[in-house]
Amino acid sequence: MKLSEPVFWETGQERCWTEQIDALVHRYRQQGRSVGLSATPTSATRVPEQPMGIEDYLGRLAEDGLAEAACMHHPRCLGHMTSPLPVFMPQLSRLVTSFNQNLMKTESSGGLTALERNTLVMLHRTVFDLDEQSYHKMSTDSQSTPGLITSGGTLANLTAMWCARKRGFTDQGTWWRQLHEKGYTDAVILGSRLMHYSFDKAMDLLGLSSNALLKIDVDARGAMRLDQLDTALATCRSQRRKVLAIVGIAGSTDFGSIDPLQELACRARMEGVHFHVDAAWGGPFLFSHTHAQLLAGIEQADTVTLDAHKQLLTPLGTGILLYRNSDLSRMLLSTAPYAVRSGSRDSGRFTLEGSRPANAIYLHAALHLIGGDGFGRYIDDSFERARALAHRIKARPDMELLQEPPTNLVVFRYLPRRFRHARAIRQDPEINTLNVRLHKLLRHSGTSFLSRTERVLPGQATPACVMLRAVMFNPLCRIEDIDPILDEVVACGRQLEEQGFEKEKSVEHVQNS
Ligand SMILES: *Cc1c(COP(=O)(O)O)cnc(C)c1O
Repeated sequence: MKLSEPVFWETGQERCWTEQIDALVHRYRQQGRSVGLSATPTSATRVPEQPMGIEDYLGRLAEDGLAEAACMHHPRCLGHMTSPLPVFMPQLSRLVTSFNQNLMKTESSGGLTALERNTLVMLHRTVFDLDEQSYHKMSTDSQSTPGLITSGGTLANLTAMWCARKRGFTDQGTWWRQLHEKGYTDAVILGSRLMHYSFDKAMDLLGLSSNALLKIDVDARGAMRLDQLDTALATCRSQRRKVLAIVGIAGSTDFGSIDPLQELACRARMEGVHFHVDAAWGGPFLFSHTHAQLLAGIEQADTVTLDAHKQLLTPLGTGILLYRNSDLSRMLLSTAPYAVRSGSRDSGRFTLEGSRPANAIYLHAALHLIGGDGFGRYIDDSFERARALAHRIKARPDMELLQEPPTNLVVFRYLPRRFRHARAIRQDPEINTLNVRLHKLLRHSGTSFLSRTERVLPGQATPACVMLRAVMFNPLCRIEDIDPILDEVVACGRQLEEQGFEKEKSVEHVQNS
């Protein structure tokens, strides 16, 4: 058969692929560890001239890339903000790619543009809970949108900052001149020092220098310090620096901490500046009857970022930006004569991205098949697991809990024997070095996966502390998994200590100096 005949478009080919891929996925799921074994990639770097057969190709793929795949479905895989996906997601993924609709324009999206919009309204109600009249307007006004589905939280945050900038200065090309004409020296964005690094990217894209992102210190719970925010706002006023936005975090990436959103909203209103809440991690807490209260004030934000591919259990590539007032979406309106025409219903008029897949289907499905109460239970369970983990860590002399978990992330570290007796948080760099090694060893030989981060602890002065971080959302993780995970961490720590870690370190020290 000649390849120029459309062999890849014959439905008979499908079964063969389904079977082979199912077998590959089955093998992947049989792995007993949560960490992929490292392999040396042997992938060729030239386009092959002759086509490969299915089997040969999948064999190549399994060897080259998938060998190192993280085992997301493992109950002790607690290092990632993404979770094991519900079984219906890979099946829906087949559906999404089979239809391959482009949500940029209605010509290629059919009813999915309306479905996407209604899905956004569902989340809008969860976050803002406006009156029915507002939702009626949102459903019928095609010249604005209640929100956007983006490829992730980063794009949602970038879009929010773009919108804040446009709100401050409407002039397209000459906003900088406009700023100076109004007597400002600079434009800044304020948030806590635990802000996600997507805000640093946003500054660069807006043409603002990195020192125009004012990072306010946090208290012992990781929440932005209001006294410091007030000082920063006063300084901006006296130095004629224009505040474009105040950013509040609802679930920081490192600690899961939450800013005082109510008070931030109040300041933003008084200053007349855009208020954005980054709820990429913590947004779904709103589904929990017990914990929704932690996010009080989020309903006053102008824009809110959510990440469905984290705690809303959709496949990667599903972020969300919501506008409390959908009129604000008009700030970013852009059109093109070839596709996203003005006056049309094309969602591409509002997005930073161009062509976009129908990932709204994943979100729509998750919200229907799991439901608000279902998500609430997953959230409640995750808080309970986090509390249990923190409790067990505190009960052990060989580990140190680095912060009372404000939500469902837990940070801790292994304590080498000679540091176990002092009471305050110990700041010896040796503990950091040991925990970096421990993390590598655990990844190499353990069955559990935790992530590692390094930060100045909330409420502390420098130096930065190396932390093991457990993301307790994984719905497959049971309370019974906790002790074995901690035993593994301690076993790694002991092994390193016994191997003369200290001696090794001093040799390294001599070599470095
Ligand atoms: C994950 C995360 C982001 C970025 O989301 P991506 O989907 O990785 O782009 C932004 N903010 C917070 C607080 C996050 O946890």
